[in-house]
Amino acid sequence: MFFYDWTFFLIIPPLILAFYAQARVKGAYRKYSQVFASSRTTGAQAAYQLLQSAGAGEVTIEKQPGELTDHYDPRKKVLRLSQGVHDSSSIAALGIAAHEAGHAIQDRAHYQPMHLRSLIYPVASLGSTLAFPLFFVGFLLSNKGTPSVLMDVGILLFAGAVAFSVVTLPVEFNASKRALALLEERRFLTSDEMTGARQVLGAAALTYVASTAMAAMQLLRMFLMRQSRD
Ligand SMILES: [Zn+2]
Repeated sequence: MFFYDWTFFLIIPPLILAFYAQARVKGAYRKYSQVFASSRTTGAQAAYQLLQSAGAGEVTIEKQPGELTDHYDPRKKVLRLSQGVHDSSSIAALGIAAHEAGHAIQDRAHYQPMHLRSLIYPVASLGSTLAFPLFFVGFLLSNKGTPSVLMDVGILLFAGAVAFSVVTLPVEFNASKRALALLEERRFLTSDEMTGARQVLGAAALTYVASTAMAAMQLLRMFLMRQSRD
C-alpha cells in the first residue's frame, strides 16, 4: 500500500522475516542440491514410489522448467517437479519431491485443511486483487467522521485473503511432516542426510509464516486506518 503514515512500520518486521526466509530457502537449496543421497533415488522416482504406496497412483508426474517451481495441482492431479528436482538425487531434490508428493497424499486422504483451502481460494484471489484498490478509493472518498463503506468492503475482502494464508500453514507443515517421515521410513535418505532435507523444508515453511504475518499486519493496518476515519 502506498500510505506513508506510522502504520507503515507494522509491515517492516514481516518484511524482514520474508527476506530472511527467502535467503534461507536459496541457501539451503544451493547447499543441498550439491549433496547427493546415498540411495541414488531421483526426485521423480521417490515421488512415484510414495504416490504408489499411498494409493495415489492416478497422479501423474511432469517435468517443469525453472527452479523451485515445484507444485501439486489438485484439479488436474498432476505433480509438477522442476528439472533440478525431477532428475536429481540430491538431498534437496528428494526433500522437495517428497513434500509435493505429500500434497498429493493429503488430497488422496481428503485432508480437511487442504479442502478448506480450495474452498476459500476464489474469495481469497478476488480479495487480494480488489481489496487494496477498493480500500484506497474508500479512503480518498472518506472524511473524518464519515468513513466510506468501500473501506469496509476492502477490509472484508482482504480478511478472506488472510484466512487463505492462515489455512495454508497447516497444509504446508503437514506435507513436510509426511515427507520427512516417508523419506526416512522408505530409506530414501539416511538419518544423517535427513538433516539437510529438514533444513530445506524448514526454510520453505518459514516463507509461508512470513507471508501470513505480512497479510495479518496489512489487515491490521487497514483496520487502524479505518478507525482513524471514524
Ligand atoms: Zn507445499
